[in-house]
Amino acid sequence: MTTGTRRARIAVHKFSSCDGCQLAFLNLGEPLLTLAETVDILHFAEAGPIDEEAEVDIAFVEGSVATSQDAARLRGIRERSRYLVTIGACATAGGIQALRNLHDADEWVSGVYAQPEHIDLLADSTPIAETVKVDLELWGCPVSGEQVLGATKAMLAGHLPRVDHSAVCMECKRQQAVCVMVSQGRPCMGPVTSTGCGAICPRWQRDCYACYGPAVQANVSALATHLADTGMPADEVARRLLFINGHAEPFRAEGLDWQARVITRQGSEEEQG
Ligand code: SF4
Ligand code: SF4
Repeated sequence: MTTGTRRARIAVHKFSSCDGCQLAFLNLGEPLLTLAETVDILHFAEAGPIDEEAEVDIAFVEGSVATSQDAARLRGIRERSRYLVTIGACATAGGIQALRNLHDADEWVSGVYAQPEHIDLLADSTPIAETVKVDLELWGCPVSGEQVLGATKAMLAGHLPRVDHSAVCMECKRQQAVCVMVSQGRPCMGPVTSTGCGAICPRWQRDCYACYGPAVQANVSALATHLADTGMPADEVARRLLFINGHAEPFRAEGLDWQARVITRQGSEEEQG
């Protein structure tokens, strides 16, 4: 990236989210302070600087688009940014709040808010890329601060980084982690989930819950069938898929398929009385 003699400018924007991805970036600590000596961080509400209208070289975006105001603000950020990078599951795949896309959100709004007429929700909560062009997507819930830092350095050096989307299973092998699916029978989502986390859950004897989104060539159908064959009820299989990255294909299609099986089975059970 060439910026002439001036320092590169960076902004970190928030949309519908929990701030966890901003905190993951902030928690880098010393490496972030070192970065701040070489770039100008103009907008990063969690860290202090606020200038949402700033023109920047790199805009990081956390959160999904949930309202028409979100969409308008996002288009403005896109116009004022050279590179736009999504950080985390909310920005990249709609996040946990995209679960409302599968239900009647209006009904929920009426149930939660005393004056629902003041809530201006879009029909769906969507990833950033469904509204504006995105140059780079970094997944995770939260995103890895190291991954954001590495991507920043790559862009400052003039290129977009290559993001590894091989399965978490590959990372387990690289880290010599014992497989929790084989050794403990845990319902691990690692075979269909993109790495980027360093296989942190399996390394702590926990099953992966797919927070880094779908891996390349993920055979989601085979894993879902395996989970059901090991005794997991169909509604739980659907929940494993329609979770943090439930708006992302192929998790969405497979999850809806398993949800439909539950509805069909319940219908035939009711018919049989
Ligand atoms: S991706 Fe996860 S950690 Fe990041 S803002 Fe969304 S819910 Fe929070
Ligand atoms: S623990 Fe999970 S991610 Fe790791 S090798 Fe086993 S199935 Fe794959």
